[in-house]
Formats: sequence, structure tokens, C-alpha cells
Amino acid sequence: AASFAGKRVSLFGLGGSGIATARALIEGGAEVLAWDDNPDSVAKAAATGIETADLRGADWAKFSAFVLSPGVPLTHPKPHWTVELARGAGVEVIGDIELFCRERTLSAPAAPFIGITGTNGKSTTTALTAHILKSAGRDTQMGGNIGRAVMTLDPPKPDRHYVVECSSYQIDLAPSINPTAGILLNLTPDHLDRHGTMQHYASIKERLVAGSETAIVGIDDSWCAQIAERLERAGRQVIRISKRLPLTDGYFADGSNLMEAVHGRYSRVAFLEGIGSLRGQHNAQNALAAVAASLRVGMELGEIQSGLESFPGLAHRMEQVARKDHVLFINDSKATNADAAAPALSSFNRIYWIAGGLPKEGGIEPLRGFFPRIAKAYLIGEAAPAFSATLGEAVPYEISGTLAAAVEHAAHDAARDDGGEAVVLLSPACASFDQFKNFEVRGEAFRQAANAIEGVKPIGG
Ligand code: ADP
Repeated sequence: AASFAGKRVSLFGLGGSGIATARALIEGGAEVLAWDDNPDSVAKAAATGIETADLRGADWAKFSAFVLSPGVPLTHPKPHWTVELARGAGVEVIGDIELFCRERTLSAPAAPFIGITGTNGKSTTTALTAHILKSAGRDTQMGGNIGRAVMTLDPPKPDRHYVVECSSYQIDLAPSINPTAGILLNLTPDHLDRHGTMQHYASIKERLVAGSETAIVGIDDSWCAQIAERLERAGRQVIRISKRLPLTDGYFADGSNLMEAVHGRYSRVAFLEGIGSLRGQHNAQNALAAVAASLRVGMELGEIQSGLESFPGLAHRMEQVARKDHVLFINDSKATNADAAAPALSSFNRIYWIAGGLPKEGGIEPLRGFFPRIAKAYLIGEAAPAFSATLGEAVPYEISGTLAAAVEHAAHDAARDDGGEAVVLLSPACASFDQFKNFEVRGEAFRQAANAIEGVKPIGG
């Protein structure tokens, strides 16, 4: 990373991605002083030749920038003092995506860069877009919030494509973020615990598309619709997408057909019929965004369609994990809020629904419209009392407590359902942290519990 060549940079957070970021800066000629509150991490970094020192004692006037490493969670209490020191000394506070953006603009022409944000669907859209590009033979690097830290990706060059999932936190620390195509999928109240007001949360996400050469905006919620209008009024190039409205200009879904509209004239650009990994209206939104971005970087329709068809899908998102006779077991552990659980609940009937965990504001009230599809609910974790109150008389439920008990009871009841296909669905509408390390561990526990049931046959994974 040559953007800080000859300059002095401080960095906090020396996990794997922090060390990679520090190393990239050093290789680009920067002088890095790094720290972490974990002595083991400091020792590891020092062993790779990174200069380490407690930043409290550092001369902040000498730093050109302070880098908060991608490995430092926002909720981490420790970096606050470093951020305060930086701000007090007038040193800009940035993250790894900002470093990547500066690095990228050093290559001419700049490497194609697709940045993706939104409340839900970020990872699916990121993985899908990268898959479409990659399967057409393009040099493709995927990273950011979805997995690999951007500074650990192969370095920018003109024909290398970057597909980067951006969290609010990462956008907040990337003041000059400037993708070729920026995608804002949707905005619903989530993570407000971290970002304060919806207004503030939306304004951070808006910055990604505001900085983009082309802004691709899902206009199905009022926050995003307003953002699209605002950007257009400011003279920016905006491509609207909608999973339900025929647009005059933009891309929209008509059933499983993905349509392009140009001044009110429609043509089909792709279709999702028969693509199991992209079932549901929510995936139409994700696919429309991926299609629009792929077209923006010059992909052909045939390449895009074959990419859509060969997309394997992501684990823990409406993932079919097992079957026993007429009972299908679906792992949607990634659905950590009511909005994210809605797609799965709207895609099935005769649902034996496992829900609960660490509840979020609003609980499952927004899911009331799907209650008729639920044969019975199995409640786990801290949310159980609140959820049972919402279900009330409308849906039969039990408080199962643990996931293992819930799977066992749900499988037992679903096996006795004689109305055709029944679904044991883990779509918890809650964070996992009361009972599991993260949603992946919760999803794996579900897969294992499902596959431990006698006579069950695993699917995939
Ligand atoms: P993110 O990375 O934004 O958390 P994911 O792609 O991992 O999103 O999807 C998480 C869950 O959110 C999925 O299991 C699905 O239930 C729901 N979801 C996915 N895409 C959308 C969308 N476009 N709109 C609403 N919900 C979605």
C-alpha cells in the first residue's frame, strides 16, 4: 500500500487482518506504529517485524493517519481512547477499506470496484456478483465484511475486479470510498444499538452510493427511495432496482423474470426460474443488484445468466440441510432479525418454526402476517418469553429452551403432519450470542441436530 509512502501511521488491532494491513502499509513504504490490548497479538506482530508501542505514549503529532484494523469490533471498548487521542491531535481515523480505495486509485485506469451495502442481503449479493464475474473468467477478488480483509486481497491492477461487502462501520471509516458501482440494497431498522438513530445509520450507508460512479439502489423501502431521489437531484448516475414494482427506468422483477426498463420499454435480461439457491423475492432483489452491477462492468447477458444458474448459494441462508420423508430441514441461522426471517417464512407452508436467541427491538411483531403458515413454534433462548407473548393465541408454541430440544420436538411433530411437505425451519429472528458463539455455530448445531435424527438424509454441506 503505497498511499502512505514515507508517512507515519498508527494502527490499533493486531489480529490476522490487522497484521496484514500493517504489513501492506510497511511494504508500501509507510512507517507503522501498531498496538493491541492483547499482549499475545502484540508479540505476534512484533515477530513479523512490525514496530509496536503503547499508543498512549506515542507522539500523535507525527502521524498522518490512524488506522483502526478490520478485526476490531465496533463494540470493543478499548479503541475509544485511541480514537480520542487521534481526534484530539487532528489525525484522521480510517479503516482498511479507505486504504484499499486510496491504493486502487493509484492504478490507472482504476481497478473495477463493486461495493455492496444494505441491511439485508449483502453477503448473498456480494457472493453472487463475484461468482458471476469469476465464472466468466474475470480476475475477481472478493472481500470486506464477507470474509477476507481487503488489504489481504491481491493488489489492484486495471483489469482486476473487486467485489467488496461494506458494513456501516467500514463505510464510516472510509471517507473517500468511490466504487465503480455501489449497491445499496435496502434499509430497515437493525443495528440501531450501534448506530443510534435510523437517520444516522441511513446516512452512513448512503455515503457508499453517494461516492459511487454509478449508484445501484433498491427502492422498495422509503429510506432507499429517498436516497435514490436525492442522488439523482445531485446529478449522480442512479440505477433503481425493485423486486416488485415495474419501473420506468431501471431493473425490476416480474415473477422470476428480471427485466430492464428504459424509458418505459421493457426487456428481459435474465431469469431465476428453477434456480434453487435464489428462491424468494428477497433473492430477486439481490439478483437484480448483481445483474445491474455486472452489466455496469461490461458483462454480457449470457455470462450473467450462466453465473446465476451455477450460483451455489451461501450456508445458513435458507439452506436445505436434511430431509426425512416429507420433512425438510432448513437452516436460516443468518436471519438475526425479524426482517431477515421474513423471506424464509414467506417461502414455505406448514412451518415448524424454531425461533429465539438474543432478541432485537420490535421482536417478531413484524412477522405476524406469516403466522398462518406456522404449524407450531419452538422457542429458544432469552427471547422465548417475549416471543411467546406475541404468538399468544395465534400460533401454538412450546418453550423448548435449547436448540437441540427444539429440533427434536419439531421433527417429531412435523413427521406427524400429514398435509404434504412440512418444514423444520431454524430462522431465529434473533442474535445468537446468548447460546452460541455466532450464527455459524448455531447453524452448524442445527445441521448436526437434524442429521442426528433417525432416518434423516443430509443434503449438501
Ligand atoms: P447480510 O450479509 O446483509 O446479513 P445475507 O446475504 O447474509 O445478508 O442474508 C441474510 C438473511 O437475510 C438471509 O437468510 C435472508 O433471510 C435475508 N435476506 C437476504 N437477502 C435479503 C434481501 N434482499 N432483503 C431482505 N432480506 C434478505
